[in-house]
Amino acid sequence: MCIFCKIANGEIPSNKVYETDKVLAFYDLEPQAPSHILIIPKQHIACAADIDRSNSAVMADIFEAASEIAKKLSIDSFRLVNNCGEKAGQSVMHLHFHMLSGRDFAWPPG
Ligand code: AMP
Ligand code: ZN
Repeated sequence: MCIFCKIANGEIPSNKVYETDKVLAFYDLEPQAPSHILIIPKQHIACAADIDRSNSAVMADIFEAASEIAKKLSIDSFRLVNNCGEKAGQSVMHLHFHMLSGRDFAWPPG
């Protein structure tokens, strides 16, 4: 079982921000911004390239989570980042979105 599956089932502790039966959000251990939250599906999906008709509903849950977290924590600007594949910087092969806020972000991202 992968590390984020273990976080999702409680085997590995995390600092939780938001949870439903489908998704979990928790603080990143190595924050890249003053607030750095990871939003994951509880179901194991390796990366965004594995989203298809059978599992795409979870994307709505993930974006709903981001919106709810922004309201709950009074975050007015945030960046949602998904790294898909090693060359894009994905190190944990369980779909996750980085919700970053609390500083300015460059565009284009580089
Ligand atoms: P990525 O490089 O896009 O795959 O992002 C993986 C993220 O997971 C990194 O930002 C790590 O700091 C974070 N991470 C890895 N293990 C944990 C953990 N046990 N709890 C919280 N965040 C973690
Ligand atoms: Zn997993």
